[in-house]
Amino acid sequence: MASIFDGEGFHVTQVFSIERHLLSSGGFAVIHKGVFMSVDFKEVRDSYALASFFEGLMGAKGKPVAGSIRYSVCPSCGPSSDASVKCSVRNERWHCFACMKKGDVVDAAAAFFGVPAADAAQQLVGQGEQFMAKRNELPLMPKVVRDQESINQVISMLLGAQKLPDLACMDYLCSRGISKEIVEDAVFRKMIVTLPGDPNAALRFLLDCVGRDLLLKSGIWKEGSKAPAVCYRPLAFVNSDERGIEFRLIGESAVAIAKSIRYGEPGPWVWKGNDHAMIVEGAIDLLSAVQMGTKRTVIGLPGAKNWNADDKWLNALVGRHILVALDNDEAGQAGSKDLEEILKGRAIVRRYQHLAGCKDLNDQLKLEGRIN
Ligand SMILES: [Zn+2]
Repeated sequence: MASIFDGEGFHVTQVFSIERHLLSSGGFAVIHKGVFMSVDFKEVRDSYALASFFEGLMGAKGKPVAGSIRYSVCPSCGPSSDASVKCSVRNERWHCFACMKKGDVVDAAAAFFGVPAADAAQQLVGQGEQFMAKRNELPLMPKVVRDQESINQVISMLLGAQKLPDLACMDYLCSRGISKEIVEDAVFRKMIVTLPGDPNAALRFLLDCVGRDLLLKSGIWKEGSKAPAVCYRPLAFVNSDERGIEFRLIGESAVAIAKSIRYGEPGPWVWKGNDHAMIVEGAIDLLSAVQMGTKRTVIGLPGAKNWNADDKWLNALVGRHILVALDNDEAGQAGSKDLEEILKGRAIVRRYQHLAGCKDLNDQLKLEGRIN
């Protein structure tokens, strides 16, 4: 060992052997790429705000409930419907009422990343840092902002500033089988906005085009974090009513962070076509259906069950021919059944038969390139 480690603080030293040491503080020292790093659990536990882990890395949105913050996403058992408040965060501890798991920020990271606690702590200290606020930079009970008016303003500013789609976003969509022409059409139809693919450039763009105050007011920039989480998710899909927007990753992330984050009211994406309709799950499947040549009006739901029986878009379907093509999984099947139930006797509804082995329309696009 090239240096003496005293069990406190954070030391990095070159070493020449692979070792793992239990420290007096309960942390681990691990060897990473030939560099000796000590990860002091207590230090990590005391540094990072748990709410910031839920919101910055997991992409969850909190609801304040009686001195705690409640989330619909659990680091261990994953997301539920937006209406659920199964996971409670209080005094830097979380507790899930669905799977009954609980713990602190390191336990949350271990469950979410699916790695041992020592590795999770190290991810928090390393790459996680850019997504999270330190505890001393974040009020213990962050005010959860649900300012729909500000979100509408942000959406309208982003739509107004949109020029040609960012090349990294374009490349990503092309890799999913969507053509350049359809991406450009989606931009023209105000369904897609893109930020620069480089996170630093995305931050500068957001500051120029939206401004810090409105980003904070809309809840898109969390007080205390270095940059809005959307800087790392440059591809955004705007709901057809322009009251909701979903930002998503366009590539592999160094750490396991939420693929997409939504702001504003959940609502569908709509690609206007002929009088016949097709209901799919998510914006990528909507674009996939268009790419595969459907002439129907395509409605992309933000989730298989993320809609209400009295939604306006649903009532507009009365009397029409409807193809239901939600994902080929349990949630998709349950959602399809509910849609068919609601529309029974009011519209002509048919369930889409997925190609064998395809879990959704984008799978089919990549495999076959056309609709059955
Ligand atoms: Zn859970």
